[in-house]
Amino acid sequence: MATMFPCPNCGGQLRFSPKSHFRMKCTSCGKYTNAREYTPDSSMGKDSLNTKVYTCPTCAGEIQLIDNDGMEFCPFCGNQTTMQEHFAKGGAPKYILPFALEKEEAKEKYNEQTKKYCFTPNGLDDKENIDKMVGMYVPYFIYEYGINDIVKYSGSHEHTSGNYHITDYANVTVNVDVEDVQVPFDGSQTLDDTISHYIEPFPMDNLIEFNPNYLAGFFVENSSVDKDLYVEDANEGAKKYLFGKVLEQGGQYKPNEKEKTYINRQLNEKAKSKGVAGAYFPLYFLTTRYGDRVAYSIVNGANGNLYMDMPIDKNKMYRTAFVVSMIIFAILLGCTFLFDFSFKIEKVTSFSAFISSVISYVGAVLADKAYRKDNHLDDKGFFKTKDNVNKKKEDKEKKPKKKDTFWGKYSTTIIIVAMTLLIFSIFTGTFNGVINLTFGIMMPVSVIIIVLAAISVKKGDKKVLKLGIFGWLFSYIIHVISLPNDIFYYGAMIFVFVMLLHSMSAVVHQYNVFATRPSPQFEKHGGGLEHAK
Ligand SMILES: [Zn+2]
Ligand SMILES: [Zn+2]
Repeated sequence: MATMFPCPNCGGQLRFSPKSHFRMKCTSCGKYTNAREYTPDSSMGKDSLNTKVYTCPTCAGEIQLIDNDGMEFCPFCGNQTTMQEHFAKGGAPKYILPFALEKEEAKEKYNEQTKKYCFTPNGLDDKENIDKMVGMYVPYFIYEYGINDIVKYSGSHEHTSGNYHITDYANVTVNVDVEDVQVPFDGSQTLDDTISHYIEPFPMDNLIEFNPNYLAGFFVENSSVDKDLYVEDANEGAKKYLFGKVLEQGGQYKPNEKEKTYINRQLNEKAKSKGVAGAYFPLYFLTTRYGDRVAYSIVNGANGNLYMDMPIDKNKMYRTAFVVSMIIFAILLGCTFLFDFSFKIEKVTSFSAFISSVISYVGAVLADKAYRKDNHLDDKGFFKTKDNVNKKKEDKEKKPKKKDTFWGKYSTTIIIVAMTLLIFSIFTGTFNGVINLTFGIMMPVSVIIIVLAAISVKKGDKKVLKLGIFGWLFSYIIHVISLPNDIFYYGAMIFVFVMLLHSMSAVVHQYNVFATRPSPQFEKHGGGLEHAK
């Protein structure tokens, strides 16, 4: 097929070249052409595009080919397949954010990131796998707002002068004049909203009027989401941004809670929606298959922000765990000689009860997280229309509740304090006391964690949770009843140890379900992008 972007010099294919500052490079003669001035083939208009559309027979995803050589695998579901192709005339969006990153740079980013993970599954960082990365323009909706109005509030300013503590009050009047507030949301079914948040913010200053020349050599995902889907979220986003502007101008006078509400109410009235516009945003996509699931790696083609689904390689993890346990064992053995500490085998039951309770808690939380992800409960775009979002949410989610993040906030501090105490006590010779105290505390703590696990249970696969509870219960019973002699304890402990290994393996499996996603299945085509102008 003749090229849609013929080179003015030799007639070869022009490709948009992200690093060359708005120029296109000829694949035959290597000469550059200014992308702003170039006029392509008549099939590539500013308002409509005549392109070849590929449909994946497995997931029904649709991709426009813009003068590419085709592809042997689907970037959405990762299946190697013969795509069904047809020509289609499609609308064009109002804006485009051109690629600023070359594919090689995106691959480099990806490579660097995989090196940071300890248990990267084999194959994920293979050259062959990385070569599957594709540059794709993804449909976005841009909700636009403008305001040129006065916002009033009363603010206060506290300061100290000599021995006096002074609070100044003032009625603040600011003129908020912002012509363009642009809040983007992805109009793609594939791109989970949680991923979009990771790779944001896009450099909105680089957004320009649509010109098909920037598409040359890339793929374009067809939009399948309604344009009004994110209106409320966009309103909130715009209001938050403008609120910041008001405070900026208000200087040292800060509003209290009541005044903040008042400011928001004024912004609600005075910020005018200018409608929704469609845009193409640049992303590099890499899809890897894991059995019947997929893992996505996505690089923001405008600034290099990266998101990666990262499952764990079990064998790699076990090897590391084995080495670490051996080191701990050696240290403990050394300690028994150096500090002359010993403990009764019954005490170990507290330890296994503790570990089991933690496993059950992790099981409860991971199951819920994996369930939310698999059912797209945090991803509006998947449901395509507002009605669907509301309906499906009701179906799948009984109690929407944010997880408390106490552990997330304080975990590092707690671990550092515990380690310091431990090291300190070793050197001051109270190790025996510490060990006894630790074992003494572990059992009651495990009970608390089991209760927490029970509270955290929502939906999803309960296997890990059950294994944890079983291990805990078993340890607890062994701890409470008195067995006739140590041999029975050793037998029980070996059983518990095997149980723990099995539970750990289940935890990793559950984690891997959480870290990947179900193979996509597109249900609808033709979203609102071409209607959003
Ligand atoms: Zn040429
Ligand atoms: Zn597919």
